[in-house]
Amino acid sequence: MKVTVFGIGYVGLVQAAVLADAGHSVCCVDIDESKIDALKQGVIPIFEPGLAAIVKENYQAGRLVFTTDPEQGVDFGELQFIAVGTPPDEDGSADLQYVLAVAETIALHMKSHKIIIDKSTVPVGTADRVAEKIKATLIQGNKAALEFDVVSNPEFLKEGAAVNDCKKPDRIIIGTDSSHAENAMRELYAPFNRNRDRIIVMDVRSAELTKYAANCMLATKISFMNEMSNLAEKLGADIEMVRQGIGADERIGYHFIYPGCGYGGSCFPKDVQALVRTANSIGYEAQILKSVEAVNAAQKYKIIEYINHYFKDGVQGKTFALWGLAFKPNTDDMREAPSRVIMEALWEMGARVHAFDPEAMEEAQRIYQGREHLSLMGTKEAALKQADALIICTEWQNFRAPDFEVIKQQLKYPVIFDGRNLYQPKTVEKYGLDYFSIGRQSLN
Ligand code: NAD
Repeated sequence: MKVTVFGIGYVGLVQAAVLADAGHSVCCVDIDESKIDALKQGVIPIFEPGLAAIVKENYQAGRLVFTTDPEQGVDFGELQFIAVGTPPDEDGSADLQYVLAVAETIALHMKSHKIIIDKSTVPVGTADRVAEKIKATLIQGNKAALEFDVVSNPEFLKEGAAVNDCKKPDRIIIGTDSSHAENAMRELYAPFNRNRDRIIVMDVRSAELTKYAANCMLATKISFMNEMSNLAEKLGADIEMVRQGIGADERIGYHFIYPGCGYGGSCFPKDVQALVRTANSIGYEAQILKSVEAVNAAQKYKIIEYINHYFKDGVQGKTFALWGLAFKPNTDDMREAPSRVIMEALWEMGARVHAFDPEAMEEAQRIYQGREHLSLMGTKEAALKQADALIICTEWQNFRAPDFEVIKQQLKYPVIFDGRNLYQPKTVEKYGLDYFSIGRQSLN
């Protein structure tokens, strides 16, 4: 099939590459010229395991086309994906300006029937707004007779495992009441639907809400565990034992119940906020979601709390080695990452940071260019040199079994502040290191 994707970010590029890899022809449109130029040169703008190879292969095979020309994109496919960003507005609601701009662009250039697919995460009712925008633009352009369908097809990929998630989705949600659109979507996704039927067709509004409900449930699990970890600390319990104890119950399960220094990324924070605002707009107070957000915001300062407890005279002039800048492993994405809150708090208190991340160094450079109290180091060991203490913000595989002797030798104060509970406290203490992790010690 011939498909067009507007917005070549994490979602758009991965989706386009995976569809092309299955044999579809995909035209990728982005307004960012430097991104499109880079892609044409074989430079992949994001780090995502397995992505570079399939982008290059399918580009060379002619199944992936990159352009900044919207008209070329609209002419290309009957299926038109909208995969642009939906960042939080000033009040936390989803900013739909990019989604509606693409809708208008499609309407301006379309000459035949199109199926417009909302892949971006958008509030309930957005498909109606997209349809209204298209209709109004068609009328203005004297093309009112042209027909189209708007489908909601939210994306559930996880950064860091995006290619695999797109190739083997747990489910494919299709929100539509048009049988033509449903059939086209079924044909498009048939290559990913062989093992069992993963497609769930529903009305558009339910599809839109499904995406928010999924992310909010996951964020709730994290904040719930973080609340338990705070209780564990105060009550003299070990949250890691509690985690295993509750995970053994099949109704709870072991997935996604890790305590830590808070969730980040481009999705959970903004989607929880957006659903709270959606609820407000219809006069409903989403009490659980507001608490999820508040617990997470406080949790990002947990490491700072431990640091203040340990360095009773303050951290002015101290240097912290910091391992892990990305909001989670296997990505270079630092949007809303706990590392940022922690570093910025340390700078505020007069401390320096020597940071290392296996993939997010360029991103950190871009965000904090010229920042006086940040040094980006080439390895995790280099970050330790001349540091007073070590902080861990991301659970990269590479941090899981470090040489504790080296850490002990390098640090001026023998202490690790671990926001991801990577180690057994007894193991670390055996090396003469003090160890603060989430929900496993009392600060009294
Ligand atoms: P992103 O910021 O990485 O990419 C968005 C892209 O859209 C950018 O390259 C931008 O230049 C481009 N763009 C903006 N306006 C455009 C226009 N008018 N025409 C063409 N291109 C345009 O965003 P993302 O992380 O890929 O997220 C996209 C959407 O998918 C969001 O709604 C997000 O919530 C949702 N989502 C993201 C993830 C994730 O893990 N990142 C997962 C599921 C869903």
